[in-house]
Amino acid sequence: MFAPVAAHDPGDPVADLLAFLDRSPTPYHVVAEARRRLETAGFRELVEADAWDLAPGDRRFAVRGGSLVALQIGSVSPAEGGFRVVGAHTDSPNLRLRPRADAASAGYQRYGVEPYGGVLLHTWLDRDLSLAGCVTLREGGALRTVLVDFGRPLLRIPNLAIHLDREVNSRGLVVDPEKHLVPVAGLEGAPGLAALVAMELRAQGVASPEPGDVLAHDLMTYDTQRAVVAGVRGEFIHSSRLDNLGSCHAGLAALLAAARGELPGATRVLVLYDHEEIGSRSAEGAAGPFLASALERAVAGFKGGSAQGLPRALARSLLVSADMAHAVHPNHAERHEGGHRPLIGGGPVIKQNAGRSYATDARTAAHFAELCARAGVAPQHFVTRNDVPCGSTIGPITSARVGIPAVDVGSPMLSMHSCREMAGTADVRPMIEVLRQFY
Ligand SMILES: [Zn+2]
Repeated sequence: MFAPVAAHDPGDPVADLLAFLDRSPTPYHVVAEARRRLETAGFRELVEADAWDLAPGDRRFAVRGGSLVALQIGSVSPAEGGFRVVGAHTDSPNLRLRPRADAASAGYQRYGVEPYGGVLLHTWLDRDLSLAGCVTLREGGALRTVLVDFGRPLLRIPNLAIHLDREVNSRGLVVDPEKHLVPVAGLEGAPGLAALVAMELRAQGVASPEPGDVLAHDLMTYDTQRAVVAGVRGEFIHSSRLDNLGSCHAGLAALLAAARGELPGATRVLVLYDHEEIGSRSAEGAAGPFLASALERAVAGFKGGSAQGLPRALARSLLVSADMAHAVHPNHAERHEGGHRPLIGGGPVIKQNAGRSYATDARTAAHFAELCARAGVAPQHFVTRNDVPCGSTIGPITSARVGIPAVDVGSPMLSMHSCREMAGTADVRPMIEVLRQFY
């Protein structure tokens, strides 16, 4: 990252989560940060194009774009020990730059954007936005894709002054995603996007392209305000991307903690998926073959693997799908069903839905509740009101794609899909501990 994140005590899970959030402005950066942490713990990369040879205790991971699968092979073959899978998603709703972003207007240089996922649009106004993502360059005769993070305020979508829209408070703010969302980048004459990217890559010493060598980009805006602890007693975490980096962090921390202990028979798996917020339909998303292929190869790559190894392994497996949960909102408490009102600070939430928008059933809910008991916490429960549509997760998609039972869980939060969200400091350690118990 351009502006380095301050050092922190890695033993403090809240400080560690704040650092993880700040280092991960895009799914590509989430994967880079997860890779860094896994490699420090002795996990080595498996290249999908190579043959996989696996043995008990092996620590491996594979990457596809903004997705990652990490495996720690158990003491016996997956066919005998099964898989314990924790899944979460690396993407968050945001505003992404258009392919040809330059859009000058009324004396300003602007860069056009497109909403990604279910963005709470008005929360992106009057924020100090930066840019990060990946860029593909022409270098020599070849193409090279590099990560970039500008790490400083570059863009802003200014609100209209109240003097020019007197009814905005009584009528409510309507944000037209085509007309009202174009960020201002500078005054007229400021560099276009390709020139800006070329200058930044040179300044960061990543590459030295000419603007004409910047062929394509997958750049997104993010809020430069850092993740913080807030509330009069430090009860809260305020940050962007808590949905769902809170769960990515918990799953990764749990895997690394478990890997320091005894090796179980089961193979531990962590899958971090991109593209959940847009329906998971991609080669690296939960509806794609990434996890199924990794599990199949973990079975086949284990010496003595047989044709029946995969179905035998899957029949012994369970998925914990971790995604943030809706805490009850004090100003809108009626939006929650009366008997299912999770509180921030109240611990992990088990999510259920009769229509299977969450994958949880009685068996998997009870299993998770037992893990909570072992970790010394009581789970909370969530179901939507019958007149409020239910959100969904990678849980049912992964469960259906791979064919293993799943439980949908998450830590409680407010302001979900806002540019700046809110969760609880007291919920960080319990979720890591419950997932560690699972592993
Ligand atoms: Zn989510």
